[in-house]
Amino acid sequence: MVDINEVAENIFMLDDQLYSIPKWGSVYLINEKRKALVESGPATSAEVVIDGIRSIGVMAEDIAYIIVTHIHLDHAGGAGVLLRDMPQAQVVVHHKGARHLVYPEKLVSSMAKAQGKEALVRCGEVVPIEQERVQSVSDGDTIRLSDKQVLRFIDAPGHAPHELCIYESRNQGLFTGDAVAVSLSEGEVFLPFQPPPNFDLEQNNNTIKKLMEVKAKAIYYSHFGVSNKVEEDLQLALDKLQVWHDIVIQAINEGTFDSVAEKLIAQARAELEPLRKIEPLYDYVANIHLPLVAAGHIKYYQEKRGSPCNELEEG
Ligand SMILES: [Zn+2]
Repeated sequence: MVDINEVAENIFMLDDQLYSIPKWGSVYLINEKRKALVESGPATSAEVVIDGIRSIGVMAEDIAYIIVTHIHLDHAGGAGVLLRDMPQAQVVVHHKGARHLVYPEKLVSSMAKAQGKEALVRCGEVVPIEQERVQSVSDGDTIRLSDKQVLRFIDAPGHAPHELCIYESRNQGLFTGDAVAVSLSEGEVFLPFQPPPNFDLEQNNNTIKKLMEVKAKAIYYSHFGVSNKVEEDLQLALDKLQVWHDIVIQAINEGTFDSVAEKLIAQARAELEPLRKIEPLYDYVANIHLPLVAAGHIKYYQEKRGSPCNELEEG
């Protein structure tokens, strides 16, 4: 039984049981005259997604768009598999990511390098998508799904250079992918998301500030669920990034940069207690996700500011 909720008018959230973990990955169905999925999930979630769509009463054959917020495999990796059941569908993606859906080899090897081969096993097969079925979009582009539902794409770099946020006009909500944060257990656990190899702190901060100007009424997170505390969440995302930044700056000033990963992981792990009620989610976030984002955060300083970061000053 797929966990499904109608989270706003004509918008359904499916728990895609990402990596077989409950309440970690959200896929959304926008059920208008023309129907769109936001995120495909990885191939290992494809069956759950198809079942979920059917139980909402929508035929997979009627899906017009699979929109991916970015091309990381947990968001887009299953699109090629889903297309087999969705003969009408186009995959909509940031123009910087489009090529990698057609030729996924580099995307797959980059994920293996950043996260290890186990990550590829968790995501499953990545089926290349025919060029004609990929529609690349840029900042400001729109797609009309019905008279009342127009989607507007917002360039949202930081987490990844190929990230988009999507504003939907019917409910004035915002699909943020991984651009803002990970919000788990109904916001009880709220973490920034800084993956290697391309996390950029400055761009992420600028993206969050840009999203503040949108004045959306809801955020639809990809990890996980919906929040109506938009302003509060966006400010919290900036504050949390600042906490991570301050820890790195302090380590550099103290000459302890070599051990900063442990400090970053420890401060975040202390906030995970509310996840204990979902043991697989706790285990994944504590033992796989946090070391990953600590590595991504640190890589930003090493690359942007020059290793070994001795000249980095606060400000
Ligand atoms: Zn991502």
